[in-house]
Amino acid sequence: AGGGAHATFQAATLQKSLTTSPKPLKPKEDLVFGHTFSDHMLAVEWTTRDGWGRPQIKPYGPLQLDPSCSVFHYAFECFEGLKAYRDAAGKIRLFRPEMNMARMNDSASRLYLPQFDGAEAIECIKELLRVDQRWVPDGRGYSLYLRPTLIATENTLGVHRAHSALLYVIASPCGPYFPTGFKAISLYCDETNVRAWPGGVGNRKVGANYAPSIKPQAEAERKGYQQILWTIGEDHELMEVGTMNLFVYWRNEAGERELVTPPLDGTILPGVTRDSILELARSWDEVKVSERKVSMKQVAKASDEGRLLEIFGAGTACVVTPVRRVFYQGRDYDVPLDPANPESQAGPLAARVYETLQAIQYGDKPSKWSVVV
Ligand code: PMP
Repeated sequence: AGGGAHATFQAATLQKSLTTSPKPLKPKEDLVFGHTFSDHMLAVEWTTRDGWGRPQIKPYGPLQLDPSCSVFHYAFECFEGLKAYRDAAGKIRLFRPEMNMARMNDSASRLYLPQFDGAEAIECIKELLRVDQRWVPDGRGYSLYLRPTLIATENTLGVHRAHSALLYVIASPCGPYFPTGFKAISLYCDETNVRAWPGGVGNRKVGANYAPSIKPQAEAERKGYQQILWTIGEDHELMEVGTMNLFVYWRNEAGERELVTPPLDGTILPGVTRDSILELARSWDEVKVSERKVSMKQVAKASDEGRLLEIFGAGTACVVTPVRRVFYQGRDYDVPLDPANPESQAGPLAARVYETLQAIQYGDKPSKWSVVV
């Protein structure tokens, strides 16, 4: 953006037009993820000529877009996912929102979509949360999920950079991922479909990464497994599990207790939860913490040799999801949960990470990561 166009939008110029017909809240026990939306949305338009316009908070409602709009043809969009939590004092909190904004700018840049100032965006999101505060449910596990989305809006079938775009943020109240306590899941190691590859966009939160995952996921479910374990290469290097980052806790070949997660080599999403778990585990300083390549072949060997301790997925939706079993090359590999408690659905490390992160997110444990709205 040049020639006097606005290189970012400013929270100070935010305009509000509020709904005259607020919707009734759903009983929080009935919430299904991503089905209910709050009364308002945040929207900011961008054009090459003028840059960013004034941010607007307006009633939640349909967008009017031309059928030729480029977002419909070339997956010309990226998005984010973060949550607002209500603390014990009733205040609303965000968790490391600047990381989501930085990642969104990174995704946008890969699509040649416009950049914006993440701090200004957070101020606008905070205002949306103040306007829609009654939509932030209370109680551990409950939250208001925020979905920032950036779409190309030019009415053209031409495959070229966008000359107009729309950033919007919608909000969806949601309940706990594990309403009745942890439920460990089974994984299907997919040897056919690859989610992302070197030089691709696996590290960007672009819509194009998600639609092609639906069929492999459905096939894994049909075979009786809950999530896909995405791998790459001949030894099946681990990438992600479903839409989560992946952690393996084991005694490695050198006999050390090690928490290992795949490195940010461009093929996996740099998760906010992943980064937080790494920082926590390093601060605990009890086991070796590594970002390095690890293959399913190595995990299978560790399982056979009794060295595998835990596997879990990590992401904003669930915080952590423990894994109990992995199908790989014709065989199920059992993954331990808590050897001290056969009833348990989570290993001790996954449970500790889950507790600590939730305590921070809900404001029970003071942390620079928790941002009061
Ligand atoms: N991997 C993928 C593919 C995802 O979609 C997500 C969810 N954003 C994650 C990992 C976890 O990222 P985060 O911890 O930032 O939610």
